[in-house]
Amino acid sequence: MQKNKSISGQWLFTIALLFLVVCISPYAGAQDTTGEDEFKAWSEEGTQNQTNEFSEWNEDEAQDEFSDWDEGDDEFSDWSEGDEFSEFSEYTEEDSSTTCKHSCNNSCGAKGEIDLGFAKIKTDKFNWTLSIMLATILAGILVRFGAGRKLRGIFLISSILILGFWKVGCTGCPITTLMDFVLYTAGYADYIGFGLLFIGLILITYFLGQVWCGWICPFGALQELLYLPGKAKWLVSHKTKKAFLISRIVLLIALLIQLGVMGTKYWCNIDPFTNIFAFRAFFDFVLTATSFHTEMIIVIILILLLLVTSVLSYRPFCRTMCPVGFILGQVARIPGAALVGIDGKCASCKMCNNACTYNAIIRADKVSVLDNTDCIACGDCMDACPKDGLTFMKNSRKVKAKVICKHGECEFK
Ligand code: SF4
Ligand code: SF4
Repeated sequence: MQKNKSISGQWLFTIALLFLVVCISPYAGAQDTTGEDEFKAWSEEGTQNQTNEFSEWNEDEAQDEFSDWDEGDDEFSDWSEGDEFSEFSEYTEEDSSTTCKHSCNNSCGAKGEIDLGFAKIKTDKFNWTLSIMLATILAGILVRFGAGRKLRGIFLISSILILGFWKVGCTGCPITTLMDFVLYTAGYADYIGFGLLFIGLILITYFLGQVWCGWICPFGALQELLYLPGKAKWLVSHKTKKAFLISRIVLLIALLIQLGVMGTKYWCNIDPFTNIFAFRAFFDFVLTATSFHTEMIIVIILILLLLVTSVLSYRPFCRTMCPVGFILGQVARIPGAALVGIDGKCASCKMCNNACTYNAIIRADKVSVLDNTDCIACGDCMDACPKDGLTFMKNSRKVKAKVICKHGECEFK
């Protein structure tokens, strides 16, 4: 994580942000408690009848949250069929009281649904969507000011705590936003779910830049927290960037094919992030396991891979895999979209290049290239530039997503 010097009023901003996120959506934490199936496909699989072991886990009834796995001959049958860890019964709650104890600190009450005209959405998801979008807009405004940019670390830590450990990575999971959107538009789902957030993030990215990735996403924040600077310089080159781009496109296509063919959120079965955020339940489960299911092994491998690569490399999942980051990055190519540009004051000092840990700016053969499709609007380059040359611009006939600077002369491509 980039170092953030403290500024006066910083904690006030933090409290204000937390207040905004938690209180603007008074019912935000309540999960789907109607017991209805949001996903037809899930309904077909019979997952609506599962209990929520994470809710039970928070009860003081000394219940065994893993009783599902202990029953019968195959303790892993539920694992393979029901996605307990991955979705945490988000669509399958039957007991609202236990659910709310775990997920929203008694801020229950957001039951029901909202008809948006073009789509229906559960009230709790609508509230969370609204809260996350407001926080993202706030970040998009703050990144434009030097003092505001110093708050990024606080946003990231808040994201890890709220969307990560509190909401166990389910609410605000970027992949879920895409999957919900695709499944709804493909007709697999009756409710748009967090697909509405996906639409909102595209709009926010268009007007304010990819601040979701740089400031709010719990997956990005977790990776950034784990990163030890300076460990993997060898990953910085135009060639590795191309390889990363290809892997992101391949994974996006694979995800779309899987969603289109199966109509289910298979990613949730193997998502390492939610399992890290729900570490106690997951590791309890692993420790009590007597044999290993294939998906469980995949999850363990992905968790280890994610943890190790995140320490060695800056945001490895974001840069090599995330389909949502890839899609949001492409928004910079659209005319009128917000992007980071250089207004002709380049000193050719490489300060921005060194500051950009995400490697959206790469320097080779004395040529610096800033590629906005890779920029997560963290604002570090703006802070680093001694000439205040980097600033937010709009994609236009003159300003394009790529900025190429040589000997202080910059041009857009
Ligand atoms: S690239 Fe994906 S995982 Fe990374 S911050 Fe953006 S949405 Fe989150
Ligand atoms: S170019 Fe790099 S340092 Fe600058 S805002 Fe984008 S990601 Fe951050």
